[in-house]
Amino acid sequence: MLQLDTMTMMVVLAAVSFAKLLIFYLDSYRRTRTDVARWWCASVACFCAASVCYTIGQAEGVSWLMSVGSGVMAVAAGCMWIGARRMRGRPALVWPLFVVGALTTVVSLAGRSVGDTAPGQAAWLTAMGVAIAAAAVELRVRHSSQWRDVRSFAIMAALAAGYFLARAVGVLLLGPRDPLFLSLFGNGVSFLVAILLLVSATSSMTALNNAQRTAQLREQATLDGLTGLLNRTRFIEQAEALLRRSRDSNTVCSVVMADLDRFKAINDEFGHITGDAVLQAFGDACRMTVRTSDLVGRYGGEEFIMLLPSSTASEAVRVADRINVVLAETGPLRGTGRMATASFGIADTSGGCAGLTDLIARADRALYAAKDQGRNRTMIGDGQAA
Ligand code: GH3
Ligand code: MG
Ligand code: MG
Repeated sequence: MLQLDTMTMMVVLAAVSFAKLLIFYLDSYRRTRTDVARWWCASVACFCAASVCYTIGQAEGVSWLMSVGSGVMAVAAGCMWIGARRMRGRPALVWPLFVVGALTTVVSLAGRSVGDTAPGQAAWLTAMGVAIAAAAVELRVRHSSQWRDVRSFAIMAALAAGYFLARAVGVLLLGPRDPLFLSLFGNGVSFLVAILLLVSATSSMTALNNAQRTAQLREQATLDGLTGLLNRTRFIEQAEALLRRSRDSNTVCSVVMADLDRFKAINDEFGHITGDAVLQAFGDACRMTVRTSDLVGRYGGEEFIMLLPSSTASEAVRVADRINVVLAETGPLRGTGRMATASFGIADTSGGCAGLTDLIARADRALYAAKDQGRNRTMIGDGQAA
């Protein structure tokens, strides 16, 4: 029969949780500082504190520390649950932690005061079982790519939850000193399960944290730092895909090229900070005006590009005009007596399209025509006035 010495297992849990806390804090939390990592750190720290309470609580006269340890263990599982919630972008619910932690400690202390450890054990095991099961459920409904990172932990958490809940029922039905109970659910085995849970949780969380950080960096690399619009590479990539789709569905789409008028003079007159603010305001005006299905990117310095699916050139003209109106109303030059404007060149796929490069080249020629005609205007196709 399996004989796991409780004291040894407690010390192992304390040592493993301390090592895991240090590794997770230094390698994951300090690098990413995400809210999820914070809750996981809190959980591992609670595991660590609880095992210290259990170990010291073995000494004469301080057995009440074991009850505190049970409460802290329940809080550790609760922190795991909150971490799993935050992963899904759901708010952290902190009050259940205090309620469950305090309740578990009180029940355990009350049992201990009449010499019965069963109620306390049942309380912390139920709290842990429920919290870990709730964490497993939160993790299960995640997006499939992230599910790969947490799969092992979710399975481990579900098994641990089953074990802790079965142990809670066992302690109530058989009592904490029953030989069958001790061999199936003895303290040593419970600590072993807690250690396994901790190890699988921290390695999954490290993997997930790194995956989230990589996704964040990837997203940052696809956006223009000043305006938050798509950068040129990402725009071209997404525009190619959108153009293919509109070709398949036989719908017309338009490309709009925009260039701020006499922007160098704005920089010279107001300084580059104001120039940057005008670029940001133009980006905001584009975002406010287009539909969510449209693509907007920063093509170069003060040049912008849009792809409007299911829009003819004349519909795109209205979008361009609206952008100039929004820029005049909201831009940083408001009230200076000067106005930031842009010229637009538009091309659509109604007369056939040899691809994105061709569409952009036609829109660009139209933009040059708009500049030639005096700026602050929109031209369509190969030199047609809008
Ligand atoms: P046009 O009407 O013919 O387009 O004249 P323009 O002055 O807008 O064109 P030009 O190409 O002569 O000047 C573009 C200016 O845009 C020059 C450059 O300093 C400025 N610019 C490009 N990128 C940035 C940026 O990120 N921030 C700021 N403040 N200025 C920028
Ligand atoms: Mg330019
Ligand atoms: Mg310009």
